[in-house]
Amino acid sequence: MNKGKLIVFSAPSGSGKTTIVKHLLGQEDLNLEFSISAASRAPRGEEVHGKDYYFISLEEFKKHIKAEDFLEWEEVYRDNFYGTLKSEIERIWALGKNVIFDIDVVGGLRIKHKFPEETLAVFVKPPSVDELKRRLKQRSTESEDKINMRIAKASVELATAPQFDVIIKNYDLEVALEEAHQLVKDFISK
Ligand code: 5GP
Repeated sequence: MNKGKLIVFSAPSGSGKTTIVKHLLGQEDLNLEFSISAASRAPRGEEVHGKDYYFISLEEFKKHIKAEDFLEWEEVYRDNFYGTLKSEIERIWALGKNVIFDIDVVGGLRIKHKFPEETLAVFVKPPSVDELKRRLKQRSTESEDKINMRIAKASVELATAPQFDVIIKNYDLEVALEEAHQLVKDFISK
């Protein structure tokens, strides 16, 4: 199979990485297709099965782990499992496209280690933990408890930033979008 490139975007929840990834997916020159992860959590808001995630039960998720169907998987939050199915990457490469991931820092670094040459690993840095808190509250799709769980994790995640190929500071969204586009463009044309 002809391998495309792998573009990983990782960051603490609320950093704006999903907004950046969605923007890049709309740029035809980048020839990107979104890696739809499997997740054991319930859909939030407008999320759609087979578009945002493959929403599966915890039991089904564990079956896939046993069968070694995942390229990487992670219990990102307690009882909330997320993972990239090997079949997903094969699906996208078969389309002749580059893969873009919106995944947590551990999963992102795992992909980088598995495919060091093909992967561009980007860390999206929020202005501050306080700003993260504000953004998560504004999103208001989750309970206070869940928001606190995400914030507690953010400090640990921020410490992994230096292990990525590049850090994008998302202080001004327009600037971050432009920078992300240029970075990916340069990487895929190598
Ligand atoms: P959310 O519940 O906000 O959609 O995602 C929670 C976290 O799990 C985010 O950091 C998200 O990027 C991450 N995530 C989503 N898919 C995957 C995946 O396939 N693997 C890993 N390791 N993390 C993922």
